[in-house]
Parts: sequence; C-alpha cells; structure tokens
Amino acid sequence: MGKKEYEPVIGIEVHAQLLSDTKIFCACRPEYGAEPNTRVCPVCLGLPGALPVLSEQVVDMAVMMGLALGCEIAPRSIFARKNYFYPDCPRNYQISMYDRPLCENGELELEPEEGAGKVRIERIHLEDDAGKMTHTGEGASHVDFNRCGVPLIEIVTRPDIRSAEQASGYLKRLRQILRYLRICDGNLEEGSMRCDVNISVRETGSDELGTKTEIKNLNSFKAVEKGIEFEVERQIGVLESGGRISQVTNLWDADNQRLVMMRSKEEAHDYRYFPEPDLLPLEVSTDRVKEIGRELPELPLEREKRFRESYGLSAYDASVICAERSMADYYEEVAEGSGLPKKSANWVMREVMGELKKSGVEIEDFAVESTSLAELVKLISGGTISGSAGSEVFEKMVRTGKEAKVLVNELGLEQISESSELEDMAERIIAEHPEEAADYRAGKKKLIGFFMGQVMRESGGKANPGMAREILTKKLED
Ligand SMILES: [Zn+2]
Repeated sequence: MGKKEYEPVIGIEVHAQLLSDTKIFCACRPEYGAEPNTRVCPVCLGLPGALPVLSEQVVDMAVMMGLALGCEIAPRSIFARKNYFYPDCPRNYQISMYDRPLCENGELELEPEEGAGKVRIERIHLEDDAGKMTHTGEGASHVDFNRCGVPLIEIVTRPDIRSAEQASGYLKRLRQILRYLRICDGNLEEGSMRCDVNISVRETGSDELGTKTEIKNLNSFKAVEKGIEFEVERQIGVLESGGRISQVTNLWDADNQRLVMMRSKEEAHDYRYFPEPDLLPLEVSTDRVKEIGRELPELPLEREKRFRESYGLSAYDASVICAERSMADYYEEVAEGSGLPKKSANWVMREVMGELKKSGVEIEDFAVESTSLAELVKLISGGTISGSAGSEVFEKMVRTGKEAKVLVNELGLEQISESSELEDMAERIIAEHPEEAADYRAGKKKLIGFFMGQVMRESGGKANPGMAREILTKKLED
C-alpha cells in the first residue's frame, strides 16, 4: 500500500487592537501598562444602567482595514451579545458582531517569497476586549479591567492557507497593512495583535474538510510556524494510526516550545448570540466609505511596485525600504531631494538602518532629516566630498543633528577638485619618486596605487580620487 499524502488546511483569526483615542463604547483612554483598574468607568465595567455609545473613530478604522483588504462594507451591520461567564468580563457578555459583520469578502494576495497565493478574507467585525487575568500560582488570581472595552477588529480568513510559511507570510503582510494604516501597532508580544489558527489535514486532492483544531496564544511569527508544523504532524500521526481528530484548543507554550491541550472547544451556539439591544444597527453610508477610501494611504504592495518601477530599485531593496511606512516616506524624500534614487537606497539601507538598529531609535526620531541626507548624497555624488568623508559627515550628523553642508565646511572636508592644484601636487610627487616613476614607465602599472597613496596622504585625504588618478596617469605616461 502506498503512503498517503496529506495537506494542511489552515484558517486564521486575528484580533487587532485599534489605536483609537478612546475605548469602543466609552470615553476611557486605553494605555498599555497603566496601573491596574485605573482606565475604567461604569460603561466598560458593565455597571447596571450604563449604556454603550459607539466611537465613530473606531468604525472609520475598521472600514479602512476593510477597504485595504478589498472587502465589501455593509451599509448596515449589527452588534451582538456573545454571552459567557468569566471573571475578566464584568458584563458577562462581550459585544461583538455575529451574522451581520461590518466587512465581508476581501482578499490578501501573497508574494512568492511569502508562500504565494490568494487568501480570501471572510469577514472583519468589531468587538470589545475583555479584561486581563493574572494567576499568581499561589492560588490567587488578579483581574485588571483596563483592557475591558478596548476596541478590536477580528479579521477572519477562509481556510485557504496550505503551509506554515504561508500562514506567517499572511500574518506579516496583515501586520504591515495595519501599521501602514496606523490603526494598530501590531505588537504580538504585548497582545495588540493576537492570532488564533485553525488547522485540519486532509488527503491531498480531497475537497473535504477534516475536523479542525485550534491553536491560541501564538505571540510571535516563529510560534505560528512552529505551532502549525507541530499540529499538522500530530494530526497526520493520529490519522495514520487509524485514529480520529477531536475538536480541541491548544495553547502554544513559548517557554517549552510545544503545544498544550487546553480544552475541547465550545460550539458557537454555546455563546447564545443575540442582537445587542443597547445599540442601534451600525449604518455606514456610501459617502462615508468613499471618503475613507480617499484617505487610504498607498498600501505596501503598491508602494513596492512603484519604487521598483520609478526608482529602479530591486525587489529586495523595495521590500526592505517599504517594510514600514515611515521608512518608505523617509526614503522617498531622500530620493526626491537628491534626484539619486539608487544611491539614496544604499544610504538608507546601510547607514540609516544600521544606525537605527544600533541605537534603537525610530526613524521618526532620527537626528538626520531626510533633506539633510539628500544633500549629503548629492555632495558625494557631485564630487564635493569623497565617499569616506561622507561617512564621517554622516556620523557627525547623527550625533549633532547639523546639516551636511555646515559640517563639510566646519570639518574642511571639501575635496580638492581643482585640477591645477592636483596637477601641481602630482608633478611634485612624481619628481620626488623618480625610481617608482621609471618602474611605472617600464611597465609596472600597479605602481599607480603607490602614487595615489602619496597624493591622498599629501592632500589629507581630500583629493578627488577620480581626478587624481586621471592626472597621475597622464603625467606618468607623458
Ligand atoms: Zn470606560
């Protein structure tokens, strides 16, 4: 009997915490790491009689994400109560959306290096977050309600993902888009972006869906990949030995790099969903959708494509530069300001990114303004200063925040590009080294390096190397 081939069938749910000024249904301002139970009010604590009021900003952000993923935006969607009892949820229900979500039927196209393929987005809906439980391990548990009512969008894919690589490719792209839109900081470790993965396996070629299991608590892309690989292996093992997959939820245990079975999963109807009576149906007009569409920034994939086409960048360079919107903005200003897009890309990718990585500073707070770096790129390219002087100026720019031109003057780094000055210098040096000059003329052309060294030493490194070499060669061959 031939060995059966299996393929994983994966769907992903992402909860993204929106960077709104207030919580979704009250005026409390969320703040990560705030003193427990200080960002609360009667509404988000679910006190009797307190009524929710929907934040318009939160709706706009969700619509923005819907448009970025090519979703249809429902003109009318319904908030629903998802009932459950747990100490982190003082109301005993979460306000979410059920059968009438805000956004539906989108898609996200993955690039070849991300595992290629199209991932269909089933829906995006709004909901509020629960509080946070901390278990001390000594029998005590603490609850912090600060996170109650923090706005989330839940983004749900169809089961279109076929590998761990594709799953993390999808999540990285999704995170990038959330950050481009500036609606979520995408911090997996702090939980502002949370991923739940549904996995089943089936015989390759089959159209049927197997019983799926879920993995929660995946707080890094690496954990997503490992967790999926783990679970796929496990399920294939069960099927191969003639067993059946049961519907369970697994938690990723990052400390021990393994899956821990948490509980058998409740069915959706256990939550007894019903329309939220304290909120009107959410109506979003086509005009509002159009307006949000106009404000949508250029998305990462489009931007990469434009940088390749209009600036001649390689696919790799474009993707590195466009990874973050602020970096892409910075690069674009340098490229436009200098008129030298490729040289600008080299500077941004090597010096700027290297410096940011070393110092842990964000590009928004970087001491070197894009206009100033553009100036520096032009000074080097035009021959006013040498490449090595450029590096020196750049370092000083980082430390002092001064402009390139000012530093070039202060440091006296301007290259000697006056041919008369260089000619005098070359003549003098050749006259001082008659033996080397004779050897050169007899065919030892490598000695040009020796003469260049002399010129650079004499000029204190300021001779324009291209010109110096040209003049020396001419004089030596005369
Ligand atoms: Zn509140």
